[in-house]
Amino acid sequence: MQHPIPDENAIRSTLRQVFGYDSFRPGQQELVEALLAGRDALGVMPTGAGKSLCFQLPALLMEGITVVVSPLVSLMNDQVTALVAMGVRAAYFNQSLTPGQYQKALGLAMQGRYKIIYVAPERLATPRFQALVQAVPVDMVVVDEAHCVSQWGMNFRPDYLAIADFIAGLPRRPVVAAFTATATGRVRADMVELLRLDDPVQVTTGFDRPNLYFGVVKPRKKDDALLELLDEHRDESAIVYCATRKETERVAGLLTDRGIDARAYHAGMEQEDRRHNQEDFVYDRARVMVATNAFGMGIDKSNVRLVVHYNMPKDLESYYQEAGRAGRDGEAADCILLYAPRDVKLAEFLIEKSEPAPGLTEDQQAAMLENDREKLRQMTFYSTTSACLRGRVRRYFGEYAPADCGYCSNCAPRAGLLALEKQPDWDFEYDQEAERRAAAGRAAARPRTAAEQDGLPYDTDLYASLKELRGLLARKQGVPAYVVFTDATLRAMCRMQPEDLAAMGRVPGVGESKLRRYGPDFLTEIHAWKTRQS
Ligand code: ADP
Ligand code: MG
Repeated sequence: MQHPIPDENAIRSTLRQVFGYDSFRPGQQELVEALLAGRDALGVMPTGAGKSLCFQLPALLMEGITVVVSPLVSLMNDQVTALVAMGVRAAYFNQSLTPGQYQKALGLAMQGRYKIIYVAPERLATPRFQALVQAVPVDMVVVDEAHCVSQWGMNFRPDYLAIADFIAGLPRRPVVAAFTATATGRVRADMVELLRLDDPVQVTTGFDRPNLYFGVVKPRKKDDALLELLDEHRDESAIVYCATRKETERVAGLLTDRGIDARAYHAGMEQEDRRHNQEDFVYDRARVMVATNAFGMGIDKSNVRLVVHYNMPKDLESYYQEAGRAGRDGEAADCILLYAPRDVKLAEFLIEKSEPAPGLTEDQQAAMLENDREKLRQMTFYSTTSACLRGRVRRYFGEYAPADCGYCSNCAPRAGLLALEKQPDWDFEYDQEAERRAAAGRAAARPRTAAEQDGLPYDTDLYASLKELRGLLARKQGVPAYVVFTDATLRAMCRMQPEDLAAMGRVPGVGESKLRRYGPDFLTEIHAWKTRQS
């Protein structure tokens, strides 16, 4: 199929005008260009790397529409909300619509009113959706969270297996793009095969998340350590992961008793309560989410500054995915694991008592169990090693990593974290060593790369005012605050302190639609602040 390939200028100006960015992040440009050239593509990039833009930007430059298959209602709805805020005509088709709304949205889609359509996999084969895609030209099909197609991945979705047939049934074969954050060799092969990608351009940007600080603490009292960590991150969003539902309830209760605005989330709760608590957190009505591993997939909240693991998870895959929900906006964030030897016992217990997967032979079951035990050993090693934590994770995922990252609790211990561990019976020598490392750490403990530019000074008073304004606008429109502007964008505003719309339009994250919608309010606020200064 021939596509008139948009030139470099069209790509750049869409990046600037719609998304408000002047530059691509690693991997994005290659994927955007591949898709616009009509090639299939597979993008494996860590959480927060910016996968959405890789397909949303080309979608805007194609003639026809783009269908995005996504596994979760919350994920779809958030992304469509964000697109609409950027002035993009987008809609979602899933069970959160009433039959009337669905009918209406389909009608508008028929008229070609949407550029990007998000759809749940189980809708693809339904007669009404089929009628739509047979009638309107589909130029691209995107499979988000594409690892769901593989049984070897973490969240297998049988509905994903029908995607390839859906594509084959279209009047014209579209470009097909698949994206995921997690892929071992086996899962990657499955994605290419089961989605029937045609000689895809493959881009992998690596697993490192330079803006995340990784720490392991062995506190005397976990509750005290947790309260201390939350105090260090006052007023910032945080997630606390617990191993069991009971612990989740208890910790959420503890925090609430201490006046911290916390909610609980686990699979044992009523669906309605879960949804409600999740929304409170995403919309910044609650600061802390205390949850089991049931919480998180599809949470696009970009301003989580702290993820605490109250218990050690059972493997590094789970740990890295959960911890990775911190700092999606590329700014510095902390991922702290509170370790106690009894966590290993608890994880062992959970592994031994877990239901075997159906249809496996005894030998296969034994092999899976041994696999789980080995993963737990690796996780335990991470929790107890004195070597670089980031290096541990990266090598576990098969990447090269330098011996010392300079930004984890082993390479750069922080005084605050060490204090959580301090025990009265420490001998003097050990204490001195800890002090030395803490001093070295204070010098080295600073975020790097993406966050490095963001480490530049900005006025915190102005920042607070802009955040307040953002909250006000978000509430008025019923959208999460980050849909208005991300924290990173607000900080850039504080630094650049634009005085007119043209200057405001140059702030990273301010596209044309948001400039029109929010620019004047923010300019007024900045102006008022400047007047207060003089
Ligand atoms: P992923 O799906 O890979 O986890 P997202 O697509 O949700 O990540 O993007 C994460 C964040 O990165 C979003 O806040 C998005 O606006 C931001 N982002 C994406 N691309 C860029 C870019 N080129 N420059 C700056 N920020 C970007
Ligand atoms: Mg994504």
